[in-house]
Amino acid sequence: MEELEHIDSAWKQKVRRNVLRWYESHGRDLPWRGADPYHIWVSEIMLQQTTVAAVKPYFDRFMRRFPNVQSLANAPEEDVLKLWEGLGYYSRARNLAKAARFVVDEYAGEFPRDVDALQKLPGVGKYTAGAIASFAFDLRAPIVEANTLRLYARLIGYAENARSTAGQRVLWRFAEDILPGRSSANGSGAGRLNQALMDLGATVCTPVDPACHACPAQRQCRAFADNSQSEIPQLPKRAQMTPMLHAAVVVEHAGKVLVRQYADNERWAGLWDFARVELGRDNNESPDDAAVVVRVGEMVRELTGVKVQVESCMRTIRHTVTRYKIRLIVFRGVAVDPDSANRDMLKWVDMAELSKLPLSMTGRKIADLLARPSPTRRLVAVHE
Ligand code: SF4
Repeated sequence: MEELEHIDSAWKQKVRRNVLRWYESHGRDLPWRGADPYHIWVSEIMLQQTTVAAVKPYFDRFMRRFPNVQSLANAPEEDVLKLWEGLGYYSRARNLAKAARFVVDEYAGEFPRDVDALQKLPGVGKYTAGAIASFAFDLRAPIVEANTLRLYARLIGYAENARSTAGQRVLWRFAEDILPGRSSANGSGAGRLNQALMDLGATVCTPVDPACHACPAQRQCRAFADNSQSEIPQLPKRAQMTPMLHAAVVVEHAGKVLVRQYADNERWAGLWDFARVELGRDNNESPDDAAVVVRVGEMVRELTGVKVQVESCMRTIRHTVTRYKIRLIVFRGVAVDPDSANRDMLKWVDMAELSKLPLSMTGRKIADLLARPSPTRRLVAVHE
């Protein structure tokens, strides 16, 4: 591979030796470090799209409730979702539960020591399979995730698009080449080196202003030699965010509120939420706009079967989902015909029950608002 021609075994040996020496005193102390494939797997799934700091308390809670793969396999999905509440990307939690059942049923609760077999588990891709195989079993399995992608691209001076097919081919090939123990499947320290490289990428070779002065691989680094750290890696531009307007209505009746569980084909499948509807592209409509209020009432009726008098705007919540920038207007409303809410995915709950349900991220924010009520504004327009 032309892009790797300038790399010889002496160069690789120096990188390995220097990075491993650095790792002895600078490696991160993370609660999932060790050789337990269950801990490694759960942490890696949690870390997808999420920072280490955010994951730590979730990981601790998860391990207290589900200390091994058998306990996770036996748990109702709703319990798993409840522990995942607030982490986002909930398909990860559902896949985790599915994969646990698969490991118990097909492998008697022992994770397979094979990258291809690991990749067949729901939610486990090439990177996660490599992480489990190398960290837990010291198999010679390469890894490329955000931190190592950046580090490898800079080390070898790869200035093309790092996420293109060609870029991925070069970087995965490098990730394999840099591992020790080429002569055997057993990596002879492959897992430790992978962890060291990840930590170096995360803490020293950072996206902006990498700390090259503190880098153990500075002498071997192509980007440092060319002073091209800020241009590498080349990444495709992020898609433009589309502004969207959503509304959620806290529908009340007899001291209870109406909640709905998302169906399997919906974005937050399995989670519960207040009656939430999508109003389309956000054109800066005001929550006081009578037309908006009427439309929200109609859509909530269509969604739940309940006729609602939309009464006041409680709060606006802004959040992003994939490439959508969402403005969510939260209304309070009163059910005019509460008994119409007799569909499968709906129920009336009090505050105690609400606190036990796995809610969407914004659903939990709204529930917190209800627990600590703030003054609301009376609307001029009311849906009939
Ligand atoms: Fe990254 Fe700088 Fe180290 Fe090169 S020298 S690997 S750019 S931190």
